[in-house]
Amino acid sequence: MHLTLAEDLARFPALLQSARDLAVREVSGLADRPVARPGRAPDAERLPAGGVGAEGALARFAERWAPGFSGSAGPRYLGFVTGGATPAALAGDWLTGAYDQNVSGAGDSSATALERETLGWLRELFGLGDEHAGAFVTGATVSNTVGLAVAREWLGERLGVCVSREGTAALGPVDVLSGSPHSSIAKAMSVLGIGRDRLRRVPVLAGNREAVDVGRLAEALDALGGRPAVVVANAGTVNTVDFDDLRAIAALKERHDFWLHVDAAFGGFAALSPAHAHLTDGLDAADSVCVDLHKWLNVPYDAAVQFTRRQDLQVRVFHNASPYLGLPTEDPDFLHLTPENSRRLRALPSWFSLLAYGREGHREIVERNIGLARRLGERIAATPGLRLLAPVRLNVVCFTPAGDATRERVHALAAAVAASGEAFLTPTVYDGTHALRAAFSNWRTSEADTDLVHDALVRALATLEP
Ligand SMILES: *Cc1c(COP(=O)(O)O)cnc(C)c1O
Repeated sequence: MHLTLAEDLARFPALLQSARDLAVREVSGLADRPVARPGRAPDAERLPAGGVGAEGALARFAERWAPGFSGSAGPRYLGFVTGGATPAALAGDWLTGAYDQNVSGAGDSSATALERETLGWLRELFGLGDEHAGAFVTGATVSNTVGLAVAREWLGERLGVCVSREGTAALGPVDVLSGSPHSSIAKAMSVLGIGRDRLRRVPVLAGNREAVDVGRLAEALDALGGRPAVVVANAGTVNTVDFDDLRAIAALKERHDFWLHVDAAFGGFAALSPAHAHLTDGLDAADSVCVDLHKWLNVPYDAAVQFTRRQDLQVRVFHNASPYLGLPTEDPDFLHLTPENSRRLRALPSWFSLLAYGREGHREIVERNIGLARRLGERIAATPGLRLLAPVRLNVVCFTPAGDATRERVHALAAAVAASGEAFLTPTVYDGTHALRAAFSNWRTSEADTDLVHDALVRALATLEP
């Protein structure tokens, strides 16, 4: 064994203690550190010939890189839709590395059974029935991609071809219909050989809405003349967290032939709150469902789930048959279900957090975040220099500076907030207007944090050109 490696082996417990000390400093100081650290990356160095050992690497990391890391796990990082990591989830994540299980197959370990138990808990959390089979993936983009891959195989079944063997070309042009799809849907269509241009935008409801007009969707399906299609319904749009009427869309199946995929990346968590659960009514009727876990479940990156009623088709697409891996069985190993083959025990942080806090603990996070979004929305509505662009429906506040909402002004406002170190918000375009979003999905965020975010916004606003 290399000498440095042998020394590290001898010092392994002390080393983990040092890493733990650094992590403890990090998580305890999170609320006081700058939320964003724009433009602070050190120059890249060359690969060292001789190593410095793990303690040396830890010291170099703390000195060179840690100071430039954002406080994205903290309470005032409201960019994109960003979750933190609950204490239990972080503990689960550490242990994932320590045990280093490969959950591709079940032969040698109970780890895959733990993953199945967690999938059962998640199914229950989101109100999905037993017919939905699940699998862990890295994020909602991959979850959407897997869902659409199963949809593509289903289209083949309807048209009498086997896409996983004959290729996407055997389908001819594919129609994917959606009201306000997330950008990852077009990306998935590109990956799957369906083509980004085959995404057909269906008009949304009038009046500040991002939910699809179900009547117009029915018309668009009618116009296909009986050709089977894919409908992507959206349960929580990123700008204003609007929800398609999932029940009404599912009811269209009585007259139209389509696969229903629901992107519930973070909106699926509305199911935890009795006051908002109706927004996810009909989710169980979907053929495939995407939910992110590194957003509103507050587990560390990277984790999401995908569910489908047609695991048989999923296996057709993703099976990895080889003499050494064996053929998929009734209860297929995970390597036959998603793009990954070998992978980490991605369920463990979710398992820890769900067991530690239960449905009620996670419900409290969701409801608190919704209340805080509303609080910020009210403050913004009452701030002369700012204009709310849509009602705060759930956990995102979408707003813009009063007066000229040019791209430059909006981006300058976002940059000024980030430079303050007090908060982090990300720009968007909503209904043709440049805007900012504040998305609440972190378990730590409090009322005081929300007020600090508003104060930072007001100060940043004062730095803008009129
Ligand atoms: C965040 C998000 C995605 C993409 O999720 P990743 O985890 O970043 O891949 C897809 N759809 C919706 C609605 C989202 O909010």
